[in-house]
Amino acid sequence: MTDIIPREEWGAEPARWTTNQKRPVDHVFIHHGATLLRDHSQEGEAAIARAYQRYHFGKSWADIAYSFLIGLKSGRIYEARGWFNRPGATKNWNHRSYAICIIGDTTQQVISDEAVRAIHNLIKEGIKLGYILPDFNIRGHRDVKNKDCPGHTAYSRLQEMRPDVETVVVPKLVPPAFTKPLKLRWPRNRSPLVKWVQAVLGLPLNGDYGWLTVQRVKAWQKENGLKPDGIVGSITYNKMFGE
Ligand SMILES: [Zn+2]
Repeated sequence: MTDIIPREEWGAEPARWTTNQKRPVDHVFIHHGATLLRDHSQEGEAAIARAYQRYHFGKSWADIAYSFLIGLKSGRIYEARGWFNRPGATKNWNHRSYAICIIGDTTQQVISDEAVRAIHNLIKEGIKLGYILPDFNIRGHRDVKNKDCPGHTAYSRLQEMRPDVETVVVPKLVPPAFTKPLKLRWPRNRSPLVKWVQAVLGLPLNGDYGWLTVQRVKAWQKENGLKPDGIVGSITYNKMFGE
């Protein structure tokens, strides 16, 4: 388990409002606060974190914009919006990402090995918890906005912050075996396989083999060179879930 210093412990004010984050996300963005950090004690870092929050409240935002904060030198991890609430630090990307901010200025100050490792471990934990996709992208704020964020001492180390997918244990899920075809009928077919099909098609997982699912199965069959009959028989099943 990664130690995360909870909000109460660094003196955060409560969020003005929150938005639930959809998980898992497929991106992690690295930021820096761009203010020099001189006092590397926990209280010194917490004082800067509170200043970031005041600054963001001053812009009428819901809360401090980031998901987590990291001490530039210490590698301490602070909870900001955390895993469950949507961050607000990376315009256009907040709905599908977490935002990790280094407390300090990584242009003028050098990020430590401890801080790089802390970010690596935090992301690894996020993957294990199922909150971050194992093949996620790690990017700097500057990759999506013309900014200097994070500074080059952090930006040049993004790949070290990315955990090796091989080292992360992700449970392998196996779809139910094919027994009989899924087709439109009443009452609706609610076999456990329906949700798997809906996941492949990018549909809401309501587990109900209804009209919309049938239409999407037809389109999928057409794209995959199969007869578009809207029925998941053994041929469609094997094409969707076979090796
Ligand atoms: Zn930034």
